[in-house]
Amino acid sequence: MQTLGHWIDGAEVAGEGDTLKNINPATGECINRIPAGDTEAVGHAVAAAQTAFESWRLVPVAERAAHLHAVADAVERDAEAFAAAECADTGKPIALASSVDIPRAVANLRWFADAAVEFCAREEVWDTTAARSTVDYRPAGPVAAISPWNLPLYLLSWKIAPALAMGCTVVAKPSEITPTTASMLAHCSAAAGLPPGVLNILHGLGDRSGAPLVSHRDIKAVTFTGGTATGRRVAESCAGAFKKVALEMGGKNPCVIFADADPEAALDVAAAAAFSNQGQICLCTERLIVETSIKDDVIAGLVARANALRIGDPTASTTQFGSLTSHAHRDKVAAAVDQARNDGATVHCGGEVPTNTAPGGAFYAPTVLSGLGSGSVCNQTEIFGPVTSIIPFETEAQAIHLANDTDYGLCATVCSGDRARAQRVAKGIDAGTVWINCWLVRDFRVPFGGMKDSGLGREGGETALRFFTEPVTVCATTGSQQGAAGAVPSEST
Ligand code: NAD
Repeated sequence: MQTLGHWIDGAEVAGEGDTLKNINPATGECINRIPAGDTEAVGHAVAAAQTAFESWRLVPVAERAAHLHAVADAVERDAEAFAAAECADTGKPIALASSVDIPRAVANLRWFADAAVEFCAREEVWDTTAARSTVDYRPAGPVAAISPWNLPLYLLSWKIAPALAMGCTVVAKPSEITPTTASMLAHCSAAAGLPPGVLNILHGLGDRSGAPLVSHRDIKAVTFTGGTATGRRVAESCAGAFKKVALEMGGKNPCVIFADADPEAALDVAAAAAFSNQGQICLCTERLIVETSIKDDVIAGLVARANALRIGDPTASTTQFGSLTSHAHRDKVAAAVDQARNDGATVHCGGEVPTNTAPGGAFYAPTVLSGLGSGSVCNQTEIFGPVTSIIPFETEAQAIHLANDTDYGLCATVCSGDRARAQRVAKGIDAGTVWINCWLVRDFRVPFGGMKDSGLGREGGETALRFFTEPVTVCATTGSQQGAAGAVPSEST
């Protein structure tokens, strides 16, 4: 066991005061300790980011991109160690960490590096007969990147990469529950030659590290992924200083299955959407809205898929379903299922700690429920675990109404053999992403985020690059004449 320090100005720095345990949730073992966080460390990290910003913003974008590729190379070289650390921190299967989390983090670094070069090469020019306006996208300044515990390196790199590529410096605050790969990334960035202060990592609790970071006056923009209640606090803090903020928050995502869908394919999609990463992806389905005529078949098919999952030791290469990421979170998921039971739900499978798992682990079995109305606590509150609830519908209009019947709007899936109907339903659903006959297919170029209580703004693609800039318009007359003060050129609107 070691104590991980903050990473400030290119070096590991021990925090002041008390420390927190970093637990392997699959065993209950303490694997590291981290600083609990203090405002002095926040001040040092922001000061380092502020100083580094003055030179990093002047580094040509191609050179910044080369730095990001060098960091990606370093992560790739250590991919096995990264995957093992992610597995130990989160309880996710090593196969998932090795095939998704770490490769995707590498891909994030590379894609945003190249996209920034392309973006910055484009000139934005607007002409009228009187004047030419050019738009310069200047880096916003030092920014804060706050991330959750479910996809630690994946989501951290998703924020850091566009910010650094566009010339911002970053103070990143990983979840206190899964701090390890953020520290490893910091070491890789130094080994890859990233200048000191460009990337800083602050460990610690949300109220001791995250809140003072967000409210620091030298932080110019905040990108946050986490729960809706925390996102609301972050937004309130940013509002006072008119600070840019992007919020990716919770969901209560529906998967709508029509009777005309390919039954096996729809069940595969539904099972992956419900149980991947133990149901701990913000995009996981928690409500399965199913045409009444196929409800029993869907329940049977989903239960069969849940029962077929190889559950257990996340370090075993054949494991498909590991531990939840903390004992406290497992207890919250169990309490939500208990409440559903008390409210009259039928539990078709799961609803308990699976047999043959390590007694010290935070395991919970994949769970399928039915029998609750759309307005029930179970069907309205994000559980963020491997629990999905079946809600029947009769008509297309009713399916859309049910899909929209929560405070959230992150994503949805529609399974149907009728493409026109699937597109119609997709258009009717209020969510940032709607998948048709698939789930979690991600294209780097498209905007990503949620509406309603699921998010504010979008990340991904060019939207993310723009977020980390301040657009500045320079307007110059094209003729020799001085434009009359207050005159509106006829071409303008
Ligand atoms: P959380 O809100 O508890 O914590 C997220 C991060 O915010 C952590 O790093 C935490 O330390 C920090 N934090 C806590 N209080 C803070 C404060 N006052 N100021 C600043 N930072 C603070 O979320 P979590 O439990 O780590 O993650 C689970 C949640 O994240 C779920 O609701 C899930 O849906 C959501 N999530 C959303 C997306 C998305 O893209 N929409 C992706 C992944 C997870």
